[in-house]
Amino acid sequence: MDTTMQKIVSLCKRKGFVYPNSEIYGGIQGFYDYGPLGAELQNNIKRVWWKWMTQLHDDVYPINGAIITHPKVWEASGHVQNFTDPLVDCKKCHKRFRADHLVEEFLTEDAGTASQNRLDQIAAELKSRHIVCPECGGEFTEVRKFNLMVETSLGVVEGEKMTAYLKGEACQTIYLDYQNVLNSTNAKIPFGICQIGKAFRNEITPGHFLFRQREFEQWDLQWFTNPKEMDKWYEYWKAERMMWYQSLVNHKDRLRFRQHDQNELAHYAKKAFDIEYETPFGWKEWEGIHWRGDWDLSRHGQYSGNDFTYTDQKTGDKFIPWIVETSGGVDRTFLFLLIDAYDEEVVDGKTRVVLHLRPDLAPYKVAVFPLVSNKEDIVEKAKSIYRALKPSIATIWDDIGNVGKRYRRQDEVGTPWCVTVDYQTLQDDTITVRDRDTMKQERVKVLDLEYFFAEKLKI
Ligand code: ATP
Repeated sequence: MDTTMQKIVSLCKRKGFVYPNSEIYGGIQGFYDYGPLGAELQNNIKRVWWKWMTQLHDDVYPINGAIITHPKVWEASGHVQNFTDPLVDCKKCHKRFRADHLVEEFLTEDAGTASQNRLDQIAAELKSRHIVCPECGGEFTEVRKFNLMVETSLGVVEGEKMTAYLKGEACQTIYLDYQNVLNSTNAKIPFGICQIGKAFRNEITPGHFLFRQREFEQWDLQWFTNPKEMDKWYEYWKAERMMWYQSLVNHKDRLRFRQHDQNELAHYAKKAFDIEYETPFGWKEWEGIHWRGDWDLSRHGQYSGNDFTYTDQKTGDKFIPWIVETSGGVDRTFLFLLIDAYDEEVVDGKTRVVLHLRPDLAPYKVAVFPLVSNKEDIVEKAKSIYRALKPSIATIWDDIGNVGKRYRRQDEVGTPWCVTVDYQTLQDDTITVRDRDTMKQERVKVLDLEYFFAEKLKI
């Protein structure tokens, strides 16, 4: 693993961002738990997305769908048949690999990616490039399809249980609830339904920490439009989503669009673009902007016996709505933002590790310190400031070690501001606020503190 990634993985465990799931039993590949700081960061990331979608855009309605749906959903969506990745086994060490990823490692950037759908092409590439097992040099078996859906069974009578699937992609419940949203709100085409939800995939090679997991969260917007306006809305959401990701990161040059080539496109898609981020392990997909046409509503209409034809009251147009989808990963966002924010800076001959997270995303916004922990009136004053701030702004208390060490500890977890209560506070009711990024300190009146931080947190 790349050294930056190693440092991030270790920071995550050490500071309580992310733990391997079931660690006391040796762990389970592709599953992680978020610790105290990770849960805060993850919630903040989701809140920012939610607000952007639902409050900063008109006509976007949120839902929260169940993880398990009627099994027919996944037949209609094509997942039972086609939600596969190309798999090869090493004949010698019996390790399994995603064949398209093995080929991709040999392709130059300009040559694009290996299509997941074309097994014959992938097999030919593996052969012509003499690609062998990266672990032991062994030869591979034939390339075959491996279905990623995670199955479970429902029912109480053995032998009569029903096979059900955990969501392979979160968005399916949006199509299922499309008509309900239309009937229970003032929604009129064009409008969107958004959701943050869990997805489960039996990934062949989970890896790169949170990047490829078997259980993860996705955020989706499905925008329903008149087919005549599809091009306009596709370009609108593509631009909007890129602007949003740009607003999250410090390194905007690490973001780009990558257009899917013809081989990669789903048969119903006219075009697809990924928003990619340049990670230490290469340019990787962060979010997909998909042209889904009328595929989803037509298929669910066909399989369920419903007609999703919409009549536009103004124009009289009748159509099955077409869909622009923007679908990204919450866990990938978490990982990419840590990669983006992680920095090591030399200050006074010593290295400080710092997370330059956008302040509204940071797990804690403010840390409150008493300058010394053995002076009762200073500690009491600091405690009262801590208690006053905490209900309105995520605040942490820290009185361990000297102030320099406390600054370093907060820098490492991305806390944007540290408040120190000192002797002067007792005289003039002011404290010092130290900024994580500039490391500059300023004196602020205790009475103004809440407003001071609220202003800084305005984006
Ligand atoms: P990939 O090509 O990386 O497998 P995908 O094209 O299959 O991704 P989508 O089905 O479009 O991904 O899912 C939308 C988003 O969900 C992705 O852009 C990514 O951010 C996230 N995602 C997909 N698979 C995983 C996974 N196994 N672990 C974590 N996040 C994932």
